[in-house]
Amino acid sequence: MELKKDKLTEALLLLRGASNVILPVSNDGAPVFKLWDGVAEPCLSANTSLPPKDLLFPRSEKMYDYNVKTGNISEISSNKKQTVFGIRPCDVRSIENLDHAFLESGYTDSYYKTRRDGLTTIALACTETARTCFCDSMGLSPNDAPGADIVLNDRGDAYTVKSNTEKGEEITRLWKSLLSKETGKASKASGSVVCDFKARADKDLPEKLVARFDDPMWDKLSKACLGCGCCSFICPTCYCFDIGRENHGASGTAFRCWDSCMFSDYSRMAGGHDPRPSKKERLRNRYLHKLAYFNLRYGVTLCVGCGRCVDKCPANLDVTRAMDIISEGVRADG
Ligand code: SF4
Ligand code: SF4
Repeated sequence: MELKKDKLTEALLLLRGASNVILPVSNDGAPVFKLWDGVAEPCLSANTSLPPKDLLFPRSEKMYDYNVKTGNISEISSNKKQTVFGIRPCDVRSIENLDHAFLESGYTDSYYKTRRDGLTTIALACTETARTCFCDSMGLSPNDAPGADIVLNDRGDAYTVKSNTEKGEEITRLWKSLLSKETGKASKASGSVVCDFKARADKDLPEKLVARFDDPMWDKLSKACLGCGCCSFICPTCYCFDIGRENHGASGTAFRCWDSCMFSDYSRMAGGHDPRPSKKERLRNRYLHKLAYFNLRYGVTLCVGCGRCVDKCPANLDVTRAMDIISEGVRADG
């Protein structure tokens, strides 16, 4: 089935009647995910600088109110329905990774689960990749998003519409009057996009990384790091958080907010001991978590190759360079 582009606004308005719609709109020309107001033109030319992670895992969120005198605790949860439109294949895979961490690790995070149950994903396959995209090196494809409820593929004047789940079927029923049979004519390259940028993520990378835990390369790789945490905050798969409390006498509110393992006080314990006292240990932990520990635990890599940290790191640190060095490939002495 396909959706003609001149029917896109109608399709989005139908979605908006059933849930909040979040899609990329232009912010000075750069696409940014925003709650759609029913008017703004979707900006679908490139992926967003920030992933839509906070739809499931907000930067800060209230968890529960408490009263120490009465012993009352009331959980605060958000169960609004949300549809994210125009999410790219790498960011769809990142949600699958977050599912492992929040839902499948032996503990179910109720805050995440409520948001996840209410979320529908309508992915847009990529027709071109950015300078720093390397998703195909990480086992993904820019052309498909099997974990999305719906995948759209740009065919020039229309999008092909493929439903993967029951939530996706619901959308195709909602769009029934707008969908037509595929014409078979594709005026735009689609389905054959590859990333120019590559990383040598061979299948033995997790074991190789663990084996080089004490390698002096970590000093060299981490030398320029500023400890700013930007790489964690823009990463679609980073999920560390800190829990705090706001007290007002006997009552208060507990909240959580994003944290970063690249911050110097992240792993400091009561008493002052810090098992990761320098940036060498912190960067090593970040890369080992992304590229080794998560794989060994869940069988998938925690890096989806979106390239955001490569693009935005103020010190030009590059996760693909670490992969290359470990895999004894190109740029090993860079
Ligand atoms: S963005 Fe770069 S400089 Fe900042 S913490 Fe991450 S690796 Fe270090
Ligand atoms: S580590 Fe970097 S390239 Fe990998 S998913 Fe996170 S931001 Fe994207």
